[in-house]
Amino acid sequence: MNAPENNAAALHARLFTLDTHSDTPTAGFLRAGWDFGARHSYADDHSQVDLPRMRGAVDAMVFAVYVGQMSRTPEGWRAAHERALRCFERTQAVLQEHRGECGLALTAGDGLALKAAGKRAIYLSVENSYSLGREAGNVEKFKKLGVRILGLTHMLSNDVADSSTDPRGPEWGGLSPFGREIVAECNRLGIVLDASHASDAALRDLLALSKVPVVLSHSGCRAVCDHPRNIGDELLRALAAQGGVIEINALPVAVVEAPDGGRTAAFSEMLLRYADTVLTPAVLAAEDEDYARVSRSYPKPVATIGDYIRHIEHAVLVAGIDHVGIGCDFDGGGGVEGLNDVADFPALTQTLLNCGWSDVALTKLWGGNTLRVLRAAEALSC
Ligand SMILES: [Zn+2]
Repeated sequence: MNAPENNAAALHARLFTLDTHSDTPTAGFLRAGWDFGARHSYADDHSQVDLPRMRGAVDAMVFAVYVGQMSRTPEGWRAAHERALRCFERTQAVLQEHRGECGLALTAGDGLALKAAGKRAIYLSVENSYSLGREAGNVEKFKKLGVRILGLTHMLSNDVADSSTDPRGPEWGGLSPFGREIVAECNRLGIVLDASHASDAALRDLLALSKVPVVLSHSGCRAVCDHPRNIGDELLRALAAQGGVIEINALPVAVVEAPDGGRTAAFSEMLLRYADTVLTPAVLAAEDEDYARVSRSYPKPVATIGDYIRHIEHAVLVAGIDHVGIGCDFDGGGGVEGLNDVADFPALTQTLLNCGWSDVALTKLWGGNTLRVLRAAEALSC
C-alpha cells in the first residue's frame, strides 16, 4: 500500500498541470546572465520558475510577454511594441536553447504531446494590449510569434479597455471601440481573450461580445478578498455561463485582506508618474527602482496556501468545477507561504487531496478547463 503522499505525487505526475500566468520572460529571460536551465531559488534571486524546478512539478506554463502601461502616443506605442518584440525574440531564443527539455505549444494538443515526450510546454500570452499599438493587424503578427492568449490591460487603462485599478476612474466604460475590433480579431484568429486586470465593465462587454470563452488568467474572488483585481460572484457566474475559466492568482494583496495603510495610493502615484513617459531602457530601470522602493515601504501581507485555496473553493462553489484553473502570477508578484514557486505545485495537489478533492476535479482544475477554452478558440480560428 502506498503512503498517501506517494499517491498524491503519482496523481500529480499523471495530471496535465498548467499554470496560466507567469512573468518569467520579463523577470528572467530579459535579465542579463539569468539562465532558465539552472536551478535558482526565491531566496537568492526572487525567481519562481526555471526548468529544474518545473521538472516533475508542472507540465505547462503560459509565459506572458508583458509591457507596462506608459505613453499613449505614436512614439509610446512604437516603443512598447518594440519592447514586446524584443521579449518574444529573447523567449524564442531561450526555448530554442533548451529545446531538449521544453517546447513552444501552439494548440491544446501540443501541450499534451510535449508532456508525452517528457518535455515542458510553454504557451505565450500578451499582458497589456498596449504593445499592439493602435494596429489591429498586430494581433495576427503576435499570433505568428506564438501568442494564444491576449490580456486586455495592465494596471492602467489603455486604448483597448479600462483597467480595474486605474486611479483616474473609467475612461471608456468598458471596452473601447478599438478594443471591440481587437476582440473580433482575436476571435477570428483563435486567440483567447484574458480579462485579468480589466474593469468589471470591460469584462461584461467582453462576455457579451466574444464568441470564444473568456479567461481570467490570474484573478481571484472578491467575496474572499475585496480587491479590485478580483471579481464578484455575479460576474463569476456570467463568466461560467459563457464557458470561461478563472485561473486563481496568488498575489498576496489580492489573496488576503490587510490594512492598506497608504499602499494603494503609493503604487497609484508611481504608476501615474510613468503614464505619459515613452519607454526606454533608462525609464525601465528607474521604474524598477521605484517599484522596489515602494515595495520596501509597503511590504506584502502574509498569505498562505490555505488562503489561496479559499479562492479556489469559492470559485468552484459559485462558477462550478468546469470553470476554475490555476494562474499563480509567479515572477510577477504572486506567491504565498507554501506555494511560492513552481516546485510547490505538487504540494497544492496534496493539500487539495487532503481537503477531499477527487481525481476528476483535480484534472479539470489543473489544466482540463483551460485546454477546453484553447480548443474552443482553435475550432473557431481561420
Ligand atoms: Zn498581472
